[in-house]
Amino acid sequence: MKREFAVIGLGRFGGSVCRELSEEGMEVLAIDTQESKVNKFRNIASHAVIADATDENVLKELGIRNIDHVIVAIGENIQASILTTLMLKELGINKITVKAQNDYHEKVLNKIGADQVIHPERDMGKKIAHSIISNNILDHLELSDDHSIVEIKASSKLIGKTLVELDIRANYGCNVVAIKPKHSKDINVSPMASEMIREDDVLILIGADKDISRFERQLI
Ligand code: ADP
Repeated sequence: MKREFAVIGLGRFGGSVCRELSEEGMEVLAIDTQESKVNKFRNIASHAVIADATDENVLKELGIRNIDHVIVAIGENIQASILTTLMLKELGINKITVKAQNDYHEKVLNKIGADQVIHPERDMGKKIAHSIISNNILDHLELSDDHSIVEIKASSKLIGKTLVELDIRANYGCNVVAIKPKHSKDINVSPMASEMIREDDVLILIGADKDISRFERQLI
C-alpha cells in the first residue's frame, strides 16, 4: 500500500528525503516557495507545488490534513519552520518530522509537539567522529544523550572467544544484541552465551556511551 508523505522545503536535505521516498514508490507531495526548487521535483514527486507553508490557508487548500506524515525540511528560516510545525500540529497531522538547525530550535520543536526532531549534520558528525576514532566502529546510532547502539567489527581480542568467556555484560555493562557475519545477510539476533565470535563478524552492541567506550578501548 502506498503511503502519503509531504516534504516541505526542497533544499539538500528535504530534496534528498523527497527523492528517496519517491524512488521507494511512495506518494509524495513536494512543497517549496522557490519555483526553481519545485521544478526540479516535478518529475520525481507525485505532486510538486510552489507554496508558502507558513500560510495556513495554503496548507488547507493543499489537503495537507489527509497526509499521514509531513517532513518539515525548512533550513535557515527557523521562524518559518516553527510556525509551519505549529500549524501542522493544529491541523492534526498524524506524524510530523522536523529538521532542526540548532539546539534551541530542537528544544522549541519538541515543546510544540513535533513527533521526531532530527539534526542531520550533528548526527552525521558524531557518526563520522566515532568511525575516525576507531576503524572498527562501522556504525553508531544515538539512542539518547548517553546511550547508543554501535556496530563493531570483531578485533583479534574477540575472535575465537565465546560471549560467556568475554562476559561483556558483567565486565562492561553493555549487551551484544546481535552478531552478523560480514559476508552474510543472516543476523543472529539475541545470540546464545555459547556463541563464538568469528573472523569478520560484526557485533551489535547496546549500552551507555561510557561503557561502550571502555569496551572499545580495551577490546577493540
Ligand atoms: P538544506 O540545508 O537542507 O539545503 P536549505 O535552507 O537550503 O536547507 O533549504 C530549505 C528550503 O526550504 C529552501 O529550498 C527554501 O526555499 C524552503 N523554504 C523556506 N521557507 C519556506 C516556506 N515558508 N515554505 C516552503 N518552503 C520554504
